[in-house]
Amino acid sequence: PIPAASNFIRAIIEKDLSQNKYVTKKWAGSPGDAAHQDTGIVDTAKIRTRFPPEPNGYLHIGHAKSIFLNFGLARDFDGICHLRFDDTNPEKESQEYVDSISDAVKWLGFGWDNANETNLYFASNYFDFMYRAAESLIENGHAYVDEQSADEMRINRGTLTEAGKDSPFRNRTVAENLARFREMRDGKHADGSMVLRAKIDMASPNINMRDPAIYRVRRAHHHNTGDQWCIYPMYTFAHPIEDALERITHSICTLEFEDQRPFYDWLLLRLAEGGLLAEPLPKQYEFARLNLTYVVLSKRKLIQLVEEKHVSGWDDPRLPTIAGARRRGYTAAGFKLFTDRIGVSKADSWIEYSILEDCMREVLNTDAERRIAVLDPIKLVIDNYPLDSDGKSQSEDCFAPNHPLKPELGKRTVQLSKELWIEREDFMETPSKGFFRLTPEGMVRLRYGYVVKCTGCEKDADGNVTVVHCEYLPDTKSGTPGSDSVKVKGNIHWVSVAHAYEAEVRLYDRLFKEAHPGEGDKDFLDDINQNSVQVITTQLELSLKDAKPEESFQFERHGYFVADRKDSVAGKPVFNRTVTLKDAWQK
Ligand code: ATP
Ligand code: MG
Ligand code: MG
Repeated sequence: PIPAASNFIRAIIEKDLSQNKYVTKKWAGSPGDAAHQDTGIVDTAKIRTRFPPEPNGYLHIGHAKSIFLNFGLARDFDGICHLRFDDTNPEKESQEYVDSISDAVKWLGFGWDNANETNLYFASNYFDFMYRAAESLIENGHAYVDEQSADEMRINRGTLTEAGKDSPFRNRTVAENLARFREMRDGKHADGSMVLRAKIDMASPNINMRDPAIYRVRRAHHHNTGDQWCIYPMYTFAHPIEDALERITHSICTLEFEDQRPFYDWLLLRLAEGGLLAEPLPKQYEFARLNLTYVVLSKRKLIQLVEEKHVSGWDDPRLPTIAGARRRGYTAAGFKLFTDRIGVSKADSWIEYSILEDCMREVLNTDAERRIAVLDPIKLVIDNYPLDSDGKSQSEDCFAPNHPLKPELGKRTVQLSKELWIEREDFMETPSKGFFRLTPEGMVRLRYGYVVKCTGCEKDADGNVTVVHCEYLPDTKSGTPGSDSVKVKGNIHWVSVAHAYEAEVRLYDRLFKEAHPGEGDKDFLDDINQNSVQVITTQLELSLKDAKPEESFQFERHGYFVADRKDSVAGKPVFNRTVTLKDAWQK
């Protein structure tokens, strides 16, 4: 394997490890320590990272970057990466999303329940601890219950240029705050009527430090805890606690959380002072999220595409979800190559979609066996090909290599007979300049077969070519002595009519026609490419009838195709075009 390129996060970890920052100290939440929630973690790892998706949608290609980063760091530094469902926000979360995220992480090559510990966690399992942490803040004068309306709170928060104003509830006594907070928990107050806020500094230049809300009243059913709670922690409060309880050492997130880092540190220090957590505390580091041209990587927009039926579902092969990419025939190895190639940085930028496609091509070029497929069939008749005594065409074996770069994969047999399917575009009655394929009086090689000479064509009433005729040169069969005695410039592929598998193939193109969908004041939906899928009936070599779901092939001269994992049935696979051989979008 290629060693992952160095980046600023790796440099930080190397420094931390050289200073023995995480191996010897006592951890927060040690098993058996009553003050702390026991998460069952034992100290075997040198570092701990986590991938913390909220189960409120399917994972997309941006998440793949984060998965390879976090799981990759843990692997390379003798650590452990936790898959943590950040499920503290009941309304938008569901089991379907939990399952799809688990599938995607596994498919990308990472798991849990490996080695000696289970590295699968649910943030909602810490609700009890989070509640205790909130009471601890109150007891130590670091939090208060605010009964201002949402509007008042927003106005009093101030602006970038103007300090905020203290809430009239800010100086309540500890006893009053505790009583109110317990009433919130016990369902005595309406949704939205009050919140618990951290008491920090309403004049802080960082608006996130102006007494952020940390608990709210919300009567909502939770997929894990059911109706046990009617108050829920805010993300900014919950996340640092989750990291600390799981003894995460390096909490890696995207740049938009940079302004939250002071609160992350503030909160963990206050809880450590209160005796609820112990050093060393986790540290947050930010990296640039992946922005990819020609797609949208936002759960909100992906949900809209699915719910408004612009695509067939979360796993539509045109979607940049992991589930969609998988159906499209993209591979985990291709994503790995992509994330290595784009690297990790602290500066936001756009990555060209063609870089991702190139990575998929490179991996498939190495891994995928070759097969023959005629996507736009027209008949070619070899008029001098011998018939049997019963008047039927004879047939013979031709030998096609399974992989030109891997001779060890051998050759397979394809049948040649009198009637073949060839590509419509491989014949031109009046050839344009530089056209070296079939044309009246012209000669080409039938790949892995004979040289043939075109003798003419038949047309329908509208002048469309329906059948092409030719004669073969019997001494020119590929792989036989003297086969190259006749030199030809063109080489075309074909499938015997009597030995073909007629199959549905979906030709996918980009879902958006603009590099930056929705840029400016446009609605991103207006940039949808209306011709992003074309379903065609093709003639394939017979062996493709046995393709297993998710098996990938290079269809010679066309590109990479995969047997669809959803719509294929045994003996009747349908194929999705993963990517063409060359980039058709380059301008
Ligand atoms: P969205 O903004 O689309 O709703 P999210 O960031 O809310 O996505 P989460 O489920 O919270 O989605 O993300 C889990 C992890 O994946 C987070 O640590 C987040 O930083 C990371 N992540 C999300 N989108 C990207 C991206 N485009 N590039 C890199 N990492 C990402
Ligand atoms: Mg999120
Ligand atoms: Mg986000």
